[in-house]
Amino acid sequence: MDRRITRLVQVGDVTLGYDGKTNGKIAVQSMTNTDTEIKEKTADQIKRLEDMGCDIIRFTVNTPKAAKNVEYYKSISRVPLVADIHFDYRLALEAAEGGIDKIRINPGNIGSRDRVETLVQVCKDRKIPIRIGVNSGSVEKELLKKYGGATAEALAESALGHAKILEECDFFDTVISIKSSNVQTMIKANRLVAEKCNYPLHIGVTEAGTVGGGLVKSAVGIGSLLCDGIGDTLRVSLTDDPTVEIEAANKILNAIGFLERPNIVSCPTCGRTKIDLISIAKEVERRIEKMNIHKSMKIAVMGCVVNGPGEAQDADIGIAGGVGEAVLFKKGVLIRKISEENIVDELIGELEKMI
Ligand code: SF4
Repeated sequence: MDRRITRLVQVGDVTLGYDGKTNGKIAVQSMTNTDTEIKEKTADQIKRLEDMGCDIIRFTVNTPKAAKNVEYYKSISRVPLVADIHFDYRLALEAAEGGIDKIRINPGNIGSRDRVETLVQVCKDRKIPIRIGVNSGSVEKELLKKYGGATAEALAESALGHAKILEECDFFDTVISIKSSNVQTMIKANRLVAEKCNYPLHIGVTEAGTVGGGLVKSAVGIGSLLCDGIGDTLRVSLTDDPTVEIEAANKILNAIGFLERPNIVSCPTCGRTKIDLISIAKEVERRIEKMNIHKSMKIAVMGCVVNGPGEAQDADIGIAGGVGEAVLFKKGVLIRKISEENIVDELIGELEKMI
């Protein structure tokens, strides 16, 4: 899959972007939802996010006390941390002093040029990148008027306007994010900005909702962009515990083939199905998830021998149901018959030999 060429931006030990040679990981991000003034609660959530595989963790730095805690959070975290700051550049300066790895702030909202220059100088000295974060609620009044609302064009122009302020201060260590709760707007805005600059893009559908609908919206929005080669880091924003966002992000990345993980394919069942394929597929999924396999492989769970092995001939391993039994196959070639009650155990047993 072709990937958009970007500048590389270093966030702690995570490289964002793709310059044609260095292929930065598409980093999964989430944001803590604890009060960042309370160290224990926030530290606990940072640890849980790390354990889930979160690559970069953001938290709000909304008070001087929260900014003072940055140093502590850095001391306990194994992944890069991002300070989320609105308007108050002094909090950004304090977070920088605490060793933060990235700052999310919109330079157009800081106030005078002096303040922007002060912040930029600190970020340059400490090699801290800045993420510009634009959403439907942050678009400037003039742009809303010019485009008749928070359209994709307005969002893109707003983001590029903030980036220009940094460029005027000779600062290019920038990541841009444009989010909207409208999936089509988010996709279009990111495509527009991807054409007009070479900054890495942080992508996501904002206010996507709870996990059911939110995952679908995010999969469409994030997935469409990634399939275009656009997107260098992402967040699946869900109304849930932040760790759920990591699970959802990994599902999206795995569906596109960006992760070294198993990909389970199972047929929708039809009148030909003579085994309880729905229960079998769910059990296979549960057992494979528990195995925590870090290897790309396709595993097929198909309802019938007539079409199953042929339809899933590229599967590394699979089963196809018969009457009260199933066949085990690899790359479309039948290996042996198995009785219905042993289908899952036999499949898992064979799989264990392959990893
Ligand atoms: S694999 Fe067989 S059982 Fe499954 S949907 Fe296709 S024809 Fe039906």
